[in-house]
Amino acid sequence: MAATPLMQQYYEIKKQNPGCILFFRMGDFFELFEDDAVIASKILGLTLTSRNNGASGATPLCGFPHHAADRYVPKMVAAGYRIAICEQVEDPKLAKGIVKRDIVEIISAGTAMDETNLNAKEANYLCAYIPATVETAAGSNARQNLGPAGESGSCCAAFAFADVTTGYLAACLSSEQSFECEFSRRMPKEIVVPEGCNIPAGIMDLIKAENVLVTELPTFLFGEEQAREVLFSHFKVEALDGLGLDGRTSETAVTGALLQYLMDQKKSELSHFTSLEILNLDDYMTLDPSTLRNLELVRPLNADDYSSTLCSVLDFTVTAMGGRTLKDWVSHPLISVEKIRSREEAVAELVQNPVALDELKDSLTSILDMERLMGRVGSGRANARDLAGMGRSLSQASKVADVLEGLRAPVFEGLRETLLRAKGRGEELLQNFNEDLPLTIREGGMIRPGANAELDAMNADIKERREWIASLEVRERERLGIPSLKVGYNRVFGYYIEITKAQMAKATQPIPEEYIRKQTTVNGERYITPEMKECESIISNAEVNIHALEYKFFCELRERVNSWRAELQEIADAIARVDSLYSFARAARKYNYVCPEVFDGTGIEIRGGFHPVIVAVNPDLDFIPNDVSLSPDGTRLMLITGPNMAGKSTYLRQTGLIVLMAQIGCFVPAESARIGVVDRIFTRVGASDRLSRGLSTFMVEMIETANILRNATPHSLVLLDEIGRGTSTFDGLSIAWSIVETLHGEPARMALTLFATHYHELTGLVDSLEHAGNFQVAVQEKGDKLIFLHKILAGACDSSYGIHVAEMAGLPNTVVRRARKILLRLEKQQIDPSDEAAHKKIVAKPQMDLFAPPDENTQLLKDEIRRLKPEEMTPMQALQCLMDLKQAYGK
Ligand code: ADP
Repeated sequence: MAATPLMQQYYEIKKQNPGCILFFRMGDFFELFEDDAVIASKILGLTLTSRNNGASGATPLCGFPHHAADRYVPKMVAAGYRIAICEQVEDPKLAKGIVKRDIVEIISAGTAMDETNLNAKEANYLCAYIPATVETAAGSNARQNLGPAGESGSCCAAFAFADVTTGYLAACLSSEQSFECEFSRRMPKEIVVPEGCNIPAGIMDLIKAENVLVTELPTFLFGEEQAREVLFSHFKVEALDGLGLDGRTSETAVTGALLQYLMDQKKSELSHFTSLEILNLDDYMTLDPSTLRNLELVRPLNADDYSSTLCSVLDFTVTAMGGRTLKDWVSHPLISVEKIRSREEAVAELVQNPVALDELKDSLTSILDMERLMGRVGSGRANARDLAGMGRSLSQASKVADVLEGLRAPVFEGLRETLLRAKGRGEELLQNFNEDLPLTIREGGMIRPGANAELDAMNADIKERREWIASLEVRERERLGIPSLKVGYNRVFGYYIEITKAQMAKATQPIPEEYIRKQTTVNGERYITPEMKECESIISNAEVNIHALEYKFFCELRERVNSWRAELQEIADAIARVDSLYSFARAARKYNYVCPEVFDGTGIEIRGGFHPVIVAVNPDLDFIPNDVSLSPDGTRLMLITGPNMAGKSTYLRQTGLIVLMAQIGCFVPAESARIGVVDRIFTRVGASDRLSRGLSTFMVEMIETANILRNATPHSLVLLDEIGRGTSTFDGLSIAWSIVETLHGEPARMALTLFATHYHELTGLVDSLEHAGNFQVAVQEKGDKLIFLHKILAGACDSSYGIHVAEMAGLPNTVVRRARKILLRLEKQQIDPSDEAAHKKIVAKPQMDLFAPPDENTQLLKDEIRRLKPEEMTPMQALQCLMDLKQAYGK
């Protein structure tokens, strides 16, 4: 038996959209069939039923009311699926045979536009990538940021980023490594690549770790000619130089393919994509994925703890646009001193002017997400509420311009000029709309009287009739003597008069002759009259026309807003910048940050620095501020020793964060700071999540260290925590030793370095290096307790106090005692870093006799007795202690 015509239509559409879950509209429902139904029923918790489709008997089926799609689509998208929305595209009443259906939109992670399901303060990036070689860019000026891979013929990446919710589009050609950095900064939800493309391993790691959707597209879409056509027709240009793509064949190819993919998915022209940014990654400090992760700039190490990120501390933004820009700034620190200072200057002015800060907050508060509103306008989704919202936001934007008028920083001057263009635009829009606006755009109720003469005339024509109906109730109540008679309306009969049985009994007049009974309800009767019908039909005919005219007028308004798009996007961008500067100033005031002195040169001088996140999250913590002093001629490398828990990692991280904050133009958590701009912050701290690639912790540690040693420059800041921890002591020590020597001595690698280690044996090495210094985190030993003072002091720590910390953590006494014995034995064979012979001896004799000779026992016994506090013991504890000692040393 052949499939029913409906199922034939379904199969046809399904075939044209491979890889999609098809939401198939049938009347008021979306239905899913076969495998789609099985998958969706599990994810959405829908009941799976079956339906006889005529061909292969029973087909799995599930469905839901169409209005629930808003809830169900995001759930499917979050689960990694691509959803094709198939609508009925003709009026079923007018259809001959099967209703015509078509795909109106395809929704996937990187192409979702419905704001209710997106984080307002996070861009929703979609990325496209193709591998490229430097030859591709030959003859062009596109050789930026190709790094060490920039030699002819080596591997590069051409990539583009788009955010369909706002119309952001950017393209770049860079080294693979820079692509990896940019990918992790923006963390797209989806990546588009040509079929069979080899995605670089680093990107694959990020894709797996963050569940990024990978979409393969036919290779021809990435052809240069094809892409060029797409860009020409979208941007309505005749040459690529207008877009900055002249001579950039790879970027052209990847951007064209990305735009085409988006237009195919959205079935729309996406006119809100008005411009293309050519990214120059050389403008920003390089932050690789592990540094981004380790410093917890935007995303926390523990997935749910956003409060541990720098962004959460600095984010006082009032608008969604400001929130997104702030994230972008935090992950893209600048390296131009001039640009940093210009932001800094603006922040400084606001910090000094709390009145302006309050005024800015007030004026920013009611500004909606204009960028995403433009996205709705550009993709033809905006309703009257959106346009009125845009109108109100524009009016507010000009109020922000008024606040900026009183400020002097040059940045504000430029922003104010842009915002002034909003003046008048808001009112121009708002005068067209009613106060209370409907969600739908085809049922009238949108346009304010006075906005459109033709509409006014049409409304005037039926005004009398409407009034007649409106007053009908009062008239009939009087006429029939039924004070509670009602005139109602429903879609089936239109207007009717309702008289209940109780009212009927009390009526002073009989039911008039012209009353035609239309419906009997439980309580009474509903009537219509010929006069009512006539009036109603005149009104409803006129209303059809009024609604059509309102719709037409609304579309014209929407088109007008769309034609302002480039200007509106600039205004939105200016609002986002003002908001981010406002946010920096608020944070500076709240946490007592200072304005750093940023200079073009090398050196970091921080007095009284503190960790911005720890202090913000634990306001009651007595945080001990610390200094940093690094310079090319003084100490270039600080070797920091101290027990676990003393605060080494905190010190390293806070230094990285302070430098980064200085370079995003923000004030910094310190008493004072002089920061020579760094080209890159490297971190090798803590555990990593690259285990997904089957790499051991130690391997990951070494890969990251290798990356540092290959790429660090004298302008970099390197933060290394516990290098070599993942392997045996002597391996680890040797590796750490050699890294210190390289970072200190190799001219091309002499980065400013903070090197925290528990190998206190390294302190001897540092003594002999001219530009390295020993530092320790102060601790105080009180009996068998350690007090962490968290203060960084000059000098070396003579012990790693590991056993103390273990004891404080509650390791059993017997284990601690045994560990002390072993340690003493090991320390007997001390390593003198300057004595190569001794070093070799130890390495050659790793298996040591751990049975202590008698004099060692005496030493240990002495130590234990020294730590005893008999004055604090009960008699029973004293006795127990004596027995312990006898058992340990009495044999
Ligand atoms: P380490 O790296 O030496 O093992 P951490 O940096 O992880 O130590 O710090 C251990 C604990 O000490 C953390 O809980 C941290 O909050 C606290 N701490 C670190 N530095 C300071 C400081 N300067 N003042 C107060 N507490 C600190």
